[in-house]
Amino acid sequence: MSIKIEHLNYVYSEGTAYEKHALKDICLEIPHGEFVGIIGHTGSGKSTLIQHLNGLLKPTSGKIYIDGQDMWEDKSKLRDIRFKVGLVFQYPEYQLFEETVYKDIAFGPKNMGLSEEEVDRRVRRAAAFVSVGKDLLDKSPFELSGGQKRRVAIAGVLAMEPACIVLDEATAMLDPVGRREGLSAVHRLNREKGITVVLITHHMNEAEDADRVVVMDDGKVIMDGAPRQVFTQVERLRSMGLTVPDTVDLLDRLRKDGLDVPLTALTVEECADAILAAVSK
Ligand code: ADP
Repeated sequence: MSIKIEHLNYVYSEGTAYEKHALKDICLEIPHGEFVGIIGHTGSGKSTLIQHLNGLLKPTSGKIYIDGQDMWEDKSKLRDIRFKVGLVFQYPEYQLFEETVYKDIAFGPKNMGLSEEEVDRRVRRAAAFVSVGKDLLDKSPFELSGGQKRRVAIAGVLAMEPACIVLDEATAMLDPVGRREGLSAVHRLNREKGITVVLITHHMNEAEDADRVVVMDDGKVIMDGAPRQVFTQVERLRSMGLTVPDTVDLLDRLRKDGLDVPLTALTVEECADAILAAVSK
């Protein structure tokens, strides 16, 4: 699924004392199958932006095109778009409310009016994809660990077979292992099924694996490029209160200590090679 955002503005509580211009003239194109990471400090507008992608919020001005179609032109199409764009929020508790894991995953596809057999097929396939075992399907979602809840929430979105999945700090509450597991499922989805992924994260090490990183600040997109282009701008990111991936941070410190290493080595292996090359010069 491709997304095109043109001059998007969003104002909360317009005309009141609480008015807040949360998105300012955002222009962004996300081609089909791309994996985009969005970073920015709290309050920079990330959540407001992604709530526009499935029509939870309506632009104050500007346009959003999904697969070339103006999202708000024909409101009858909005329902289809909501099924096509799956949102996973930070707190899975908000998305899990049925008695069993099975029913939770089945909720979305049921709402789409699919047959019982098709719903069952989708639930089992989605659960298997995110490694939610059969033994968990009959449990209450509240009996699960944080990582399992997250995967069930993702399975519920997957069962709707969306063309795009949007994760809003979806791994924020997890330990490093849980985060890795959740994210590897999302990467696999992107690679194997060609699903477009928009990932909001404050873990720079997660953003570095994206095809592209978008940086937001005060309601605007202020940087947009490949991870290597964005993360080499260390001082600019720090001035916005953001961090950089651990590898870049290490290289930056070594540079300041006089070692001639590039900042573009993002993976641990690249970073190690760069340091080895510099010390053996
Ligand atoms: P982020 O996701 O980057 O933390 P948000 O999109 O949540 O940022 O918020 C952007 C701005 O809009 C912030 O200044 C925030 O306080 C404000 N905001 C968010 N939600 C509301 C709301 N429901 N009503 C009024 N202002 C809001």
